[in-house]
Amino acid sequence: MNSRKIPHILLIAALGASLFYASSCSHAQEKIVEDSRFFMGTVVQIKVSIDPAKYGEVRAKDAIGRAFDEIKRIEDIYSVYKDESEISRINRLRKNERLQISDGVFNLIRKTLDYSERTGGAFDITVKPLVDLWSGVKKANKLPDEYELKRALGRVGFKSVVLDEVARTIHFKKDKMSIDLGGAAKGYASDRAVRVLEENGIDNALVNSGGDMYCLGKRTAHELWKVGVQHPRDRNRTFLEIRLKDRAIDTSGDYERYFTIDGKRYSHIIDPRTGYPIGDDVVSASVIAPDSTTADILATAMCILGEKGFDIIKKSGGIDAVLVTEKAGRLTVKMSEGIRKSYDISEEKL
Ligand code: AMP
Ligand code: MG
Repeated sequence: MNSRKIPHILLIAALGASLFYASSCSHAQEKIVEDSRFFMGTVVQIKVSIDPAKYGEVRAKDAIGRAFDEIKRIEDIYSVYKDESEISRINRLRKNERLQISDGVFNLIRKTLDYSERTGGAFDITVKPLVDLWSGVKKANKLPDEYELKRALGRVGFKSVVLDEVARTIHFKKDKMSIDLGGAAKGYASDRAVRVLEENGIDNALVNSGGDMYCLGKRTAHELWKVGVQHPRDRNRTFLEIRLKDRAIDTSGDYERYFTIDGKRYSHIIDPRTGYPIGDDVVSASVIAPDSTTADILATAMCILGEKGFDIIKKSGGIDAVLVTEKAGRLTVKMSEGIRKSYDISEEKL
């Protein structure tokens, strides 16, 4: 999980850079109570919609506080920047050495492995050696040689991660493997926060973990939550607004985190099959799913798979995607069928 120190003010300005809630007219009865905190290297914002006659503001603030506590707990478990996190302990395992892990970590890793299978290895949490290699490339401003690339690639491969369902252990079949849940953990944190809000009697809320959003219930009795997908080349504009209820939406892309060498863009998303950051034809992918973890995983995977990713979206019921690609400076938007069929949207030409 990314916990780089980024100036707070910048993050607030960037909040919802990929996605942001767009509040419109409010209904007299409901009150929106909101708060935001800095976790996982980003701003997490929670809004709850309450009827003050039934659910007081103080109680709502308390529920939001509990949801933030849960996100902090998730960050402590999943961060690769914290030596004592469960993920860091996994990453110190030698070949065939087993470690018993918590149910939460076990289940999330199992889910990511399932999506590795479905995406033909495009989404793969064992990508960490490559993530580290390319982060060194960024610092040194020098491309890796073939040997370095091969060595890192040799440590990657989801098929070498073994989960023992009975003993609840994990082990790697290869030496020097390591995992990075950065492509799924913010979505997972949103899901966990929503669960805590529900446990505290909240029926309507919007949780935004740095763009990984979940819309629980409605904004008001008459209005769904409205989410804007940012124009990939102009952060002050949205090109798509979509109304959601009990749905997650997440956007991944090359426009938020990348570096350049000799004028070429290198994304933070890496194709584990080649060892290289994704090319610049895919600009962004947004995925709508029943839960935020799935949306997070598939948005990252769609960036690697491009148009081919729509085959996976089609096969997975109840999931939709919007893909923005660029060719010779021209942006093109492609949407899965369900976007126009199932959702109330407003679109702008890119
Ligand atoms: P996201 O911003 O959700 O698209 O996730 C990007 C993050 O996921 C990166 O910063 C890496 O930590 C990690 N990552 C990069 N490439 C992959 C990949 N192919 N599969 C899974 N995780 C990845
Ligand atoms: Mg993701």
